[in-house]
Amino acid sequence: MPELPLEPEENVDPRSDCPVCKKAVRADSPTYPFCCARCRTIDLGRWLDEDYVISRPIEQSDLDEE
Ligand SMILES: [Zn+2]
Repeated sequence: MPELPLEPEENVDPRSDCPVCKKAVRADSPTYPFCCARCRTIDLGRWLDEDYVISRPIEQSDLDEE
């Protein structure tokens, strides 16, 4: 049996893994690429958190506060 070459993830099949919980998600899912609305909300929250961290560099005063 010949070995199949690894394809880029986008082209494997019309499914994807939920970025939050890694469950397989169908491309025709209403919440694609997330498995459910809850994961979509979680991912959005992560992005907002990340943006907040990046846009505000850590300063010495932050380290002293706690
Ligand atoms: Zn999920």
